[in-house]
Amino acid sequence: MTVRILLASRNAKKLNELRRILGPTLPDLEVVGLDDVAPYPEVPETGATFVENALLKAREGFRHTGLPTVADDSGLTVAALNGMPGIFSARWAGRHGDDEANLRLVLGQVADVPDERLGAAFACAVAYVGADGEIVTEGLMPGRLIREPRGANGFGYDPIFVPDGHDATSAELDSAAKDAISHRGQALRALAEQLAACVAG
Ligand code: IMP
Repeated sequence: MTVRILLASRNAKKLNELRRILGPTLPDLEVVGLDDVAPYPEVPETGATFVENALLKAREGFRHTGLPTVADDSGLTVAALNGMPGIFSARWAGRHGDDEANLRLVLGQVADVPDERLGAAFACAVAYVGADGEIVTEGLMPGRLIREPRGANGFGYDPIFVPDGHDATSAELDSAAKDAISHRGQALRALAEQLAACVAG
């Protein structure tokens, strides 16, 4: 029997990524997005952590639709900025989703920070909420910032982030290479494993 699961997002790339990752382990799952269900008001991201925000969004999706719901929250944490932009990554420069302004603001803020202290990481929390309970998984992609953006793939802060063990920025990696090491890829694969264990168990 096919089970429908909601990803609380309108982002087609995220939907495809979740389908790619869950598909092989859970072939009977059909992943739908917010555009496929009756509209409901977006919950404000009032949590203090990625985990809290992911849980808020997943609980809200389940409450409104009755479908088991997956939600994620992610961002860039910069050591020299005490972990910021963190949960404020999408709106660091003031306007939600202005990637270029966000990236320029971070570069300005670290302008006087020596190269050896440019350590940073992308972090992601994924929450699953259904009648059978809640699951939370996390992923981290450590690396460092560079001062001049490079690369046209990806989004957000990818052009100024070089993952550990690479010379390329995450905007220079192709999507398969990034998925394999990314914070979101790790968190989604961990969720797939736990869901598969629940189904089997
Ligand atoms: P969201 O959780 O998808 O809304 O992402 C929050 C924000 O974090 C995005 O708007 C980006 O600024 C940043 N971010 C999260 N993941 C990535 C990534 O993989 N690359 C670049 N920026 C990211």
